[in-house]
Amino acid sequence: MKSRLKKTIEALRKNGFGVKFFEDRKKLISKIKSYIKDYQNIGVGGSVTLTELGIISLLEKEKKNIIYHGLPGLTPGEKENMRIKQLTCDLFLTSANAITEKGQIVNRDSIGNRICASVFGPKKILIVAGENKIVKDLKAGLERIKKVSAPLNAKRLNLNTPCVKKGICQDCDSEERICRITMITEKKPKYSDIEVFFIKGNFGF
Ligand code: SF4
Repeated sequence: MKSRLKKTIEALRKNGFGVKFFEDRKKLISKIKSYIKDYQNIGVGGSVTLTELGIISLLEKEKKNIIYHGLPGLTPGEKENMRIKQLTCDLFLTSANAITEKGQIVNRDSIGNRICASVFGPKKILIVAGENKIVKDLKAGLERIKKVSAPLNAKRLNLNTPCVKKGICQDCDSEERICRITMITEKKPKYSDIEVFFIKGNFGF
C-alpha cells in the first residue's frame, strides 16, 4: 500500500472512522454485497463514484428500497421527499469531494441533504472513495473542489455556471451555483457510525 494512502487510512482511524481498503472493484462489490444484507432502506447521495462502480445497479439487483433523488422519472416533490428520507435511512451511501492525509473529510454541497446525511441521521454511513480523493491538507481539499469536483459536477448537471465554460471555479453569483455549503468532518461525529471504503484507482470527481 502506498505511503500516502496508508497515512490517510491511519489518520482516519485515529479520527474515529472505520476504514477498509480494496485492491479492485470486484473485491469492493463483494464486500458491499454482504454488507447491504443487513439493510433494506438505503439512501444514496448524488455520487459519480457510486455510479461508476456499479453500486447503484447492485442495490437495484438486490431489490433494496433505494432512497435516491437521482432515480429516473421522479417529480420535483418526489425528489424532495427522497432527500428528506435520506436523513433517516438505514444505510446512507455516498462519496467525498476530498479526504486529507490528516483524516479530514471535505464536502461541498448545493442543497445540503448529502452532507447532512453523511454525518448524522442514518443508522450507518458508508463513504466510498477512490485514491484520487486523497489530498495533502484542507487547503488542497478546497482547491480540489474549485478545480475539479465543482466544475465537473456543474457540467454533469448541465448548469449554466461560469466554471463549466472556464473549467475552474469563478466564485460565481449564479442562481445555479452549486457551491453553497462546505463541510469539514474532522473527527467522527459522536453518535454516528461512519466507515470509509477506499478503492485503488480513480473514481468520480
Ligand atoms: S462557485 Fe460557481 S463558478 Fe465556482 S465552482 Fe461553484 S458553481 Fe462553479
